[in-house]
Amino acid sequence: MQTPSPYAVDTHCHLFLMDQEAGRVVSAAAAAGVERLVCVGIDPATSRRSVELAESFRGVFATAGMHPHTASDFDGRAGAEIEELLADPMVVGVGETGLDYYRRLSPVEDQHRAFRTHIALSRESGKPLVVHVRDAWPDAMAILAEERAERVVLHCFSGDAAHLAEAQARGYLTSFAANITYPGADSIRGAAAASAPGLILAETDSPFLPPQSLRGRPNEPGNVMHVLAALAETRNLTLQQMVEETSAAAIRTFPLLR
Ligand SMILES: [Zn+2]
Repeated sequence: MQTPSPYAVDTHCHLFLMDQEAGRVVSAAAAAGVERLVCVGIDPATSRRSVELAESFRGVFATAGMHPHTASDFDGRAGAEIEELLADPMVVGVGETGLDYYRRLSPVEDQHRAFRTHIALSRESGKPLVVHVRDAWPDAMAILAEERAERVVLHCFSGDAAHLAEAQARGYLTSFAANITYPGADSIRGAAAASAPGLILAETDSPFLPPQSLRGRPNEPGNVMHVLAALAETRNLTLQQMVEETSAAAIRTFPLLR
């Protein structure tokens, strides 16, 4: 039996991209009941920075990877640096990796190559893969299957109920962000309502995507409570039940988060 956690988890934030001092942001999150933060690296330097933040602040953990936007920079040296960071116990996952055909800041072939290598690193390290998918669903799902990805978190899930069913049939976790609070987000809310209980996570993607009531301001990890409140509403649960459900799923997914 999984012990329910009394605290909330932000499974995806980028503390190193925030203007505010990290210590202040982490304390504000803890005061809001958010006691575990996964600071997600977007290249070797920010992955290393995330490890430093994890060593400096209680409750902060890191990932190591290269974002699809900069996949063209993913060379042998970057791969070796990321692989080295993955040996660190403060590094709980591999990524952020994936495919972004919306902004296409790196050529598609480079994105595929980097994504496949990250999946291999996830399999070798046993650490879950943190995946960004934008306008690239069929290719992302095909590559995840071809490379036999085992533990997958679809971050900032913005698909509809059909995408959700496809992901959950494979046991992938879907992590919801505060775009679920936006007026036009009926399909995301529909997907959240249809999610299987053990496969749902909450995140902020800070400093991006502030909740509707705070739009125009930079987002921060404590605001994951807004995501949890929206999830609770769509799923007809209390906030406390939603916190327990998502934190238990987060700890199962990222066992080093304890
Ligand atoms: Zn991100």
